[in-house]
Amino acid sequence: MDQTTPVSSNAPTTNVVVDATDDVVLPFAIEGMSVRGRLARTGPVISDILGRHDYPPAVSRLVAETLLLASMLGTALKLEGRFTVQTSSDGPVDLLVADMTKDGGLRGYAHFDADAVAALSTETPTLEQLTGKGSMALTIDQGPGRNSYQGVVPLEGDSIAACGEDYFRRSEQLPTLIKLVVAQSFERDASGTADGGWRAGGIMIQQMPEDGGFVRDLDPGDAPDGSVAAEDAAEDENWNRAKILMETVEDHELVDPALASEQLLYRLYHEDGVRAFPPHPLSFSCRCSQDYIKGVLEGFGSEEMADMHTDDGRIEVRCEFCSSTYNFDPEEFKGS
Ligand SMILES: [Zn+2]
Repeated sequence: MDQTTPVSSNAPTTNVVVDATDDVVLPFAIEGMSVRGRLARTGPVISDILGRHDYPPAVSRLVAETLLLASMLGTALKLEGRFTVQTSSDGPVDLLVADMTKDGGLRGYAHFDADAVAALSTETPTLEQLTGKGSMALTIDQGPGRNSYQGVVPLEGDSIAACGEDYFRRSEQLPTLIKLVVAQSFERDASGTADGGWRAGGIMIQQMPEDGGFVRDLDPGDAPDGSVAAEDAAEDENWNRAKILMETVEDHELVDPALASEQLLYRLYHEDGVRAFPPHPLSFSCRCSQDYIKGVLEGFGSEEMADMHTDDGRIEVRCEFCSSTYNFDPEEFKGS
């Protein structure tokens, strides 16, 4: 069964078409170029996740970019368990986490020093000003009893997207281009209230190695671990053309809810035969529950638990991912 859809020009250009498939990752292939890609368009799911926290805008943007990266890479895997993108660094934002289940269930959060973020002298701080130096780990957790895999790259470059590109360059020697855009929307509802919600969109393309890209030309015996730079290899003309076209994507095109994903792909790559595959839906999903948190607490000693006591003597725990709070009677843990 052929599940692909040739992207056609029949999307109307005069009427506004609201993309009926928001909160999705759409895989695509540019057949004439042996390039594959993914287009992520999100609104409600990102607003839902960020709305559970009260982060400064610069931190919300980083979390949204990390979520987008996790969703684009995670939907490319045949996951059984969970795919996680996690940074660890020495700056004001010392931790970013985004994870995705095989069903597209997304969640994420940041850990940061609010005073240090507020003290940044610019409204648009760089990645390095926010996170400092550190690393980004990409982990595939295949579930109980199965191997997990992890790749780690330095947290450097000017964006979360650049770190994702770096991962593919170092770990898989796949030339990759990633663009991530996050925007706060001020659409007004019927009562005229601005929603302040978030939208985020991303596009990535990757050269398929069987096309005679540079991967085939490398002697695996002398490729130093993790040090192969894609720029050093001869990239073919198709790849250069695919990149140049992708670089024409304007920020607003990735976050405009009135522009259908198919229209954007058509604009970019119709001359080269672009095909879209069935989209992967994304949704918010956290696995915390009263029983899950209780299980975690049962692994703690009484001294650690003492720090969690509220004024009325109960134990209160807040899930970092979704901000749900769970409340327990300390008696429940006596003797455990
Ligand atoms: Zn939770």
